[in-house]
Amino acid sequence: MTSQRTRERLVQRLREEGVSDARVLEVIRSLPRHLFVDEALAHRAYEDTALPIGHNQTLSQPYTVARMSQLLLAGGPLDKVLEIGTGSGYQTAVLARLVERVFSVERIQHLQERARERLQTLDLRNVVLRWGDGHEGWAALAPYHGILVTAAAREVPRALLEQLAPGGRLVMPFGEQTQQLLLITREGSHFSHQLLEPVRFVPLLEGVVG
Ligand code: SAH
Repeated sequence: MTSQRTRERLVQRLREEGVSDARVLEVIRSLPRHLFVDEALAHRAYEDTALPIGHNQTLSQPYTVARMSQLLLAGGPLDKVLEIGTGSGYQTAVLARLVERVFSVERIQHLQERARERLQTLDLRNVVLRWGDGHEGWAALAPYHGILVTAAAREVPRALLEQLAPGGRLVMPFGEQTQQLLLITREGSHFSHQLLEPVRFVPLLEGVVG
């Protein structure tokens, strides 16, 4: 179920759906997604579907992870990336294989701890995790060349815009009941907004859960 063949099939499907970045496809092929879900769900890890990770949260479907990673990378190589919503750590791990350094913030402490264990198991050393409310970003380490938010909001948190480097790209699900992927690019002090395809994410919530 977690064999190379099922992974190949997933990659083929993503390619057919329009994911064209060879680096992203290679990471999806080689990264063991089954390590990011409970054992009982491991047999579904290479289906193109979202899976529950506890605390009413979900690991995004592989297509969405690939699509958002591809959008973030489309502006050129990325040094520092900030992720809001570590969750299982799967998207974090994908980013860690594609960019220099990843800083990821999660509001639910238990999810953050489990993600940390998984990232250590995979020996991904270019990731730093933080327990906190992502609305604030992570100011001490700003600016970031890319910011990826994996929970939906009707407003783009101001702190995230402030922490985006000139030339940087921010990708997030925008909206509430209906959501669309939003791509923001910063040129100097000017931000350009582009709404893309519909998506479905859990909401970006206030405060932390310890
Ligand atoms: N990217 C994750 C899944 C995201 S689910 C993965 O690959 O598994 C959305 C995650 O965002 C959840 O873990 C949720 O707790 C977190 N989240 C929601 N609001 C947040 C906030 N304000 N700050 C940080 N994390 C938040």
